[in-house]
Amino acid sequence: MVFLEYSCVFLKFDEYITCQIFWNRGGSFSEQIINWSYVFLTCNYYMSTNTHVDNDEYQDRSSSPSANMPVLYDVIIIGSGPAGYTAGVYTSRARLKTLIISGTLPGGQLMTTSEVENYPGFPNGIFGPELMMNMRQQAERFGSTVIDDEVIRVNFKQRPFMITTHSQIYEAQSVLICTGASPRKLGIPAEGQFAGRGVSYCATCDGPFFRGEDIIVVGGGDTAIEEATFLTKFGKSVKIVHRRDSLRASKILQDKAFENPKIKFLWNSVVADIKGGKKIADVVVRDINNEKELKIPAGGLFVAIGHEPNTAIFKGQLETDDKGYIVLKNQTRTSVDGVFAAGDVHDYRYRQAVTAAGFGCMAALDVEKWLTESKHRKQEEIQERAEYAQGRSK
Ligand code: NAP
Repeated sequence: MVFLEYSCVFLKFDEYITCQIFWNRGGSFSEQIINWSYVFLTCNYYMSTNTHVDNDEYQDRSSSPSANMPVLYDVIIIGSGPAGYTAGVYTSRARLKTLIISGTLPGGQLMTTSEVENYPGFPNGIFGPELMMNMRQQAERFGSTVIDDEVIRVNFKQRPFMITTHSQIYEAQSVLICTGASPRKLGIPAEGQFAGRGVSYCATCDGPFFRGEDIIVVGGGDTAIEEATFLTKFGKSVKIVHRRDSLRASKILQDKAFENPKIKFLWNSVVADIKGGKKIADVVVRDINNEKELKIPAGGLFVAIGHEPNTAIFKGQLETDDKGYIVLKNQTRTSVDGVFAAGDVHDYRYRQAVTAAGFGCMAALDVEKWLTESKHRKQEEIQERAEYAQGRSK
């Protein structure tokens, strides 16, 4: 009960806490428990981010390592989606001293998803927050330390690597980046209000919940067209709203969509507003040529206007592509030796919880191998130096 009271207090304090997404729905008792647990995790995050590391303190610590020496980990995992937690399960199970820094939304994108039906092992589906808390507990069970804090700075130019959060400085022999990507938002006020209540950013995840509904998809790229085609399996109709008069998507996907009798296009149009009560009822679409607005009945609005990889803090430290995704070589290695990446932060193609978890596992195995090899390399170097010194003294 104390736990719930504290959660209530923090809930009042900070509008950022998005538990109303779940709360307003009025779900089952177990769903509410999951939601409160999410609030608890979020509160933890805010409590831990209350104390800031300022630059002076940073200077002091790095120049006098005897006082407040940063804690050194074998691996620091940045991010706590399926990739991060799965990696944590593997690295801590391999007896590596592991720290997971969970980021602004502990548990990642699945914390704002309702039911997950396509994660293997759950024949009746599982709520996203519950799935993520299970993963967190599994990683902790093997010894991973999870802190609900946000990384604000990294230094991959020094060894060990240095990771700074709002409240602490950490050092790591290796780093695994699992910060994911965030769906680009339309940026209209009603979007947040209807998130999880008709507005979705993932057709593969949420499509089956929209059986028999009129659906609107926004965007003109591969994702929008692929998702619109997928949604015709469930929806009564699918309308694609695109801001230009031609698509960016590949020709083959375009042809498929044009041939599909369930798909209609609204060209040169943008979503201006969303209307409804507990759920979406209508989407207001504006023609950008004549500013005329049309109110279209719809039960679902899928926003597919691209993703932004969460890589801002790695700028200048790692190689990224022109869209900001981390570039990998040899499966999970980044351009810096000892720094690895897994999940949506490099994968713009699959973007599924299960693929992210798979990448997390791969990267963890690579980290383990790399640490073993670098330990051997160091021992060989020491041996060589000792032999050289012995030779000179003779
Ligand atoms: P994308 O290619 O960047 O396309 C985003 C679309 O959203 C564009 O049509 C863009 O319009 C529109 N858009 C962007 N911001 C908007 C805004 N604020 N309001 C309205 N519309 C907006 O993103 P994506 O479709 O997610 O694809 C990402 C990458 O994954 C691409 O390289 C794609 O080829 C790849 N992908 C491949 C496959 C496949 O091969 N099967 C499937 C999915 C994705 P404009 O066209 O006017 O810029």
